[in-house]
Amino acid sequence: MSVSAAASPGALRCGHRGCTAAFAEQWSTWPNFVTAVRTMATLVAWAVAVTTGSDAWLLAALLCYWVGDIADGLLARLTGRETRTGAVLDVLADRLSVCLVVVSYVSTHPSASAALPAAVFLAQFVVLDAYLTLAFARWSLLSPNYFGLVDATVYRLNWSPPAKATNTGAVVLVWLVTGSTLVATVLAAVVLGVKSYSALRIARLPVPPGLSGCAVLDVRSAMSPR
Ligand SMILES: [Zn+2]
Repeated sequence: MSVSAAASPGALRCGHRGCTAAFAEQWSTWPNFVTAVRTMATLVAWAVAVTTGSDAWLLAALLCYWVGDIADGLLARLTGRETRTGAVLDVLADRLSVCLVVVSYVSTHPSASAALPAAVFLAQFVVLDAYLTLAFARWSLLSPNYFGLVDATVYRLNWSPPAKATNTGAVVLVWLVTGSTLVATVLAAVVLGVKSYSALRIARLPVPPGLSGCAVLDVRSAMSPR
C-alpha cells in the first residue's frame, strides 16, 4: 500500500508534512526502539512497585511512560522517522503502561471512591482515546500529530501539545500526587466529554474511497460527489 502511494507522482509533490506520500514503512527505527525501552522500563518499575507495595515506584512507572512517550514522539518528528507502524505501536504501549499503573493503584488503595475515577479514566483512555488515536489511518496520515490536515478542531482538542499533556497522563498524575479522588474524577469526566465530542465529530467526517498518499487529497475525494 505504501509502495503504490510512493509511486504516485501527484502524491510525491503534495509537500504537506505528515502525509504518507513517498514514505517507506518500517519497524526498525530509533523512535520504535525508544518506545520498546520506555515500555520495558515502565514494566520493571511497575514490577518493583507491585513487589514492594511502593507508591513511589508506581509513580516512577508512570513517569517512565510519560517521559518516554514524549521522547519517542519528539525523536520521530525531529529525525523525520515517523511511521504508521510506530504510531500504532505507541498507542498500544501507552494503554499497557497506563492500565498497569491505574489497576495496581486501585488494587493497593481499594475503595469505592477510587474505583469511580479509575473506571471513567480507563473507559476513556483504553476505548475512546484508542479509537480516536487510531482514526488517523483512515486518511493518508503518518500519525494523529497531523490530524489538522483533516479536522483542525479534533486535532486541537486531542493532539496539539497542550491537549496531549492534559489528556494522557494528567488525570493519573494528579491523582497519584494529590491523592484526591474528587479532583481525579472531575478531571477524568472532563476528558471523557472532550473525547466523546471528538468521536462524534470524527464519525461525521466523510471517509475517502481510497488512500491517495496525501491526506488533503483524501479529504477532497471524500467530499466530492461521485
Ligand atoms: Zn498532502
